[in-house]
Order: sequence, then structure tokens, then C-alpha cells
Amino acid sequence: MQNDHGPGNSHHPAAALRPDLALGIHHLTMLLQLPDGGIRNALPDADSCQGRFIHTRWPEGISCPVCSDRSIRALPKRDLFFCSHCRKQFTATSGTALHRTRLPIQMWLLATEAVIRWQPLHHVSGGITVDALGSLLGVHTEAAARMRRIIAADLGLEGEGLLRRAVCMKTLSLPPEITPGTSRHFELLAARAFPFPDRLLT
Ligand SMILES: [Zn+2]
Repeated sequence: MQNDHGPGNSHHPAAALRPDLALGIHHLTMLLQLPDGGIRNALPDADSCQGRFIHTRWPEGISCPVCSDRSIRALPKRDLFFCSHCRKQFTATSGTALHRTRLPIQMWLLATEAVIRWQPLHHVSGGITVDALGSLLGVHTEAAARMRRIIAADLGLEGEGLLRRAVCMKTLSLPPEITPGTSRHFELLAARAFPFPDRLLT
């Protein structure tokens, strides 16, 4: 097999993408992409959260989750849309993992932010507990457990990323000398996210 990089280079770039390293980079990238001052600052009310979610889900404009048509009317009843083509009604969460739970979008975005803030410390803390998430949002443990499961699936390396894209709104730039997916990439992100790592241990 031909080696494009010459005989001296035995390291394929993909070798650096160990699953744990890739996951660590993924977690830190999400953390650093959260808005300054958090979601409560960037999206202070239910309407702004709803608008952000709709724009994230349908960046080209709302389309029907049933027939994909774009002739959509917003119904006077709050949060409801109507497809003029197939005549189905739907909401911003119809057809997504969030829909069945019937919880407000604002709560989803705040919960996603909380999970992201805890994820890089996963190996130390095990991530945010269901009880902590529940008391943060004012929901029962059962609802918090369901939310955490859905959010974790969305945020995973292979996840759909709808909630991730809704809350991770800052662009991260990487210096050109850093190869994405390498240990140096991870270390750079960790230094930005935790400039005082010793404080994590106290
Ligand atoms: Zn339709």
C-alpha cells in the first residue's frame, strides 16, 4: 500500500482520533461554544428559545414534518403551524425526540446547557445527576431522567445535534498549526475551558 507521506511517517492522522480523545474534544468544543453569560442571557425568555429552536431546525424556513412542503401558516393558537399542502397541524418539536415529553423548549435548552457544562468533568463527576437536573429545572426525577437520556443522545458524536446546534451558538476558531482531532487540539480546548485546572480539584 502506498504511503503518501513518505517512509518516515508511520502515524496516520486517524490514529490520533482515539474514541476518548474525539469525545473529549467534542465535549470541550460544545462547552466553549455556549453563549457568553449562558442561555439565560442569550435567550432570556420562552419566545426567544422557541425562535432559536425553530431557526436551528429549519434554517431555510419552516417545512412540514409530514410532507416537507413549505406553504406553512402559523395558527393563532400559540406554537402551532398548519401545512396548506397536506393540511396537517404541527409544532416546532413535532417529529423530534422532544415531542412526546411535551416540555417547553426553553426548558430543553437550559437542560442541554447544564448537561454540556458537566460533560467535560464526566470522568471526575459522572456528569450532572438526574436529581441536580431535576431541581435545576423544577421537574420530577422521572422527567429529568428522560430529558437527560434524550439530550445525551442528541449531543453524542453520532447524535442528531439539534439541541447542540441550538445552544452551541459561538464559533470556535482553531489556530492553523493545530491539527483537528489531535492531543494538542484537546489540550488547547482544555486550557481555554479550564484556565485554572487546579481549582477543579478543590
Ligand atoms: Zn404537509
